[in-house]
Amino acid sequence: MLVLGSANADLVVPVPRRPGAGETVLGGDPVVLPGGKGANTAVAAARLGAGVAFVGAVGADRYGDLLRDSLAAAGVRTDLLRASTRPTGLAFITVTPDGENSIVVAPGANSDVGESDVDALTWAGVSVLACSLEVPVGTVARAVEAAAAHGVRPVLNLSPVAPVPAAALALLDPLIVNEHEAAALAGSPGALLDLGPKSAVVTLGARGALVVTREGVTEVGAPEVSAVDTTGAGDAFAGALAAGLANGEPLPVAARFAARVAALSVTAAGAQPSYPTLERVREFG
Ligand code: AMP
Repeated sequence: MLVLGSANADLVVPVPRRPGAGETVLGGDPVVLPGGKGANTAVAAARLGAGVAFVGAVGADRYGDLLRDSLAAAGVRTDLLRASTRPTGLAFITVTPDGENSIVVAPGANSDVGESDVDALTWAGVSVLACSLEVPVGTVARAVEAAAAHGVRPVLNLSPVAPVPAAALALLDPLIVNEHEAAALAGSPGALLDLGPKSAVVTLGARGALVVTREGVTEVGAPEVSAVDTTGAGDAFAGALAAGLANGEPLPVAARFAARVAALSVTAAGAQPSYPTLERVREFG
């Protein structure tokens, strides 16, 4: 499968409280982690044994090296990860003692992932394209259309939510959104199909997910786990869902698998470091 999306270095600092305008707050020790919705999705799928190539861009700096190394260590092909003249994307993340995050994303090189990157792709042997935003929506739309034209199944995790051209929306199978994104887009989960996608999946945090098709809405429960850190759970879900689909599983089966993978991911700290292998998912039952 191909994953097209963002790669960011996450600069995480614990703070007692968020600073107001013009104020400085002292935080705890900073941590630098590989992240970005696209890179997270690629790593999640590769940990589960899927053959994954990542399409994106990083800068010629140490954060770019960190991301390239973390993708390669998970078994993701990085020959389509382009070196940009812009700096690697960064996410500035403050975490307060109640576990709430505040995040500023500076997309940098991710803004540079363009239609020419899509036009250079070869699709032979690819069964699924998994996209997310934090890269230009026009690039994502072109990738979705190119995938469909080559008989490749396009999956889009519409996060962060943004308007997508109707022609690309109509090709998605599925459109993945969380419940807040679903509410921003449509009044009810069933109404998501009125936007045009062939199918939709709504993730519901600890309550699992909903699979929405023309035949109706199917609930997929999340296993009960003790949540430590939900960072990157949505990306784990998207990567696992795409891996299941690439394996030939029907959508509800892939969604059930993705809910188990994402539930396991919330039991450990961080995004990419928390993603389970297939063996771990099997042990989990
Ligand atoms: P969200 O983006 O919060 O909707 O979460 C994405 C997916 O992660 C959900 O569909 C669940 O499969 C899983 N997940 C998130 N939070 C939890 C939790 N507290 N317990 C179990 N699974 C979770």
